[in-house]
Amino acid sequence: MIFKDKVAIVTGGSRGIGKAIAMGLALQGAKVAIIYKGSKEAADGLVAEIASKGGTAIAIQADVAEYARTKEVVEEVEKTLGGVDILVNNAGMIHDDLFVRLEPEQWSKVIQTNLGGTFNFCHAIAFSMMRKRSGRIINISSVAADYVNPGQTNYASSKGAINSFTKSLAVELASRGVTVNAVAPGFIETDMSAAVRNKAGDMIKKFIPMKRYGQPEDIAKVVLFLASPDASYITGQVITVDGGLSLGAASG
Ligand code: NAP
Repeated sequence: MIFKDKVAIVTGGSRGIGKAIAMGLALQGAKVAIIYKGSKEAADGLVAEIASKGGTAIAIQADVAEYARTKEVVEEVEKTLGGVDILVNNAGMIHDDLFVRLEPEQWSKVIQTNLGGTFNFCHAIAFSMMRKRSGRIINISSVAADYVNPGQTNYASSKGAINSFTKSLAVELASRGVTVNAVAPGFIETDMSAAVRNKAGDMIKKFIPMKRYGQPEDIAKVVLFLASPDASYITGQVITVDGGLSLGAASG
């Protein structure tokens, strides 16, 4: 059990990629706090599923965009499970629209959730990780940061900023034994990508050299590696996991 006695927080752990990460960490012995916003039933269900497999998890409701609430959540986790060793900032959302139609609220909401949520949890946890001289922070970015699509100025900006934030924070925390990395998924089969996948049919797969969408577990495995002792000399990196999509090869 690689993560025996470790405590992990996974934001957006109720569904999709976050669920696979939370399950993966728990199956390797970590005590996992699953942060969700609205999906109480799914989060409680995952806690029960983890318990049925001999693991430990709790579910906490919070909007990652609310700074004060994230501080409370971290305190609650520390009290219930212990000091946090692994933080996975996975909670994210899209609200796509062409720029001229984009409302300021759609801009702020996406930036505040994706980038703000990442800032909030890092800010609540970084100091205690520095004091312990160990810790792993993994931020979930997206290939959309660099390989942009129309209608995603808000989303692409949030993910591009997460990449820069990851590198900057990595430099600040490196000498204290804390690594900070990001994982940038391509098209992964979750609720978030369902609308685009349903609309485009198999067309998108033509642009993916591996000719298939990724599964949440494809991302979780890389997150688990970055959280493990084997990745102790890796920091400030953005690891792309996209079946080759971002290589931009002509469809074959
Ligand atoms: P998803 O299936 O839509 O799940 C999103 C998760 O984030 C849910 O657990 C949701 O909680 C949580 N969440 C959203 N807003 C929140 C908030 N304000 N506070 C707390 N939790 C919040 O999405 P996913 O596909 O698994 O995406 C996970 C991450 O991967 C995101 O950062 C996304 O940008 C990134 N990503 C996904 C893809 C893809 O193709 N799927 C590609 C690249 C990057 P509730 O259910 O409780 O609301």
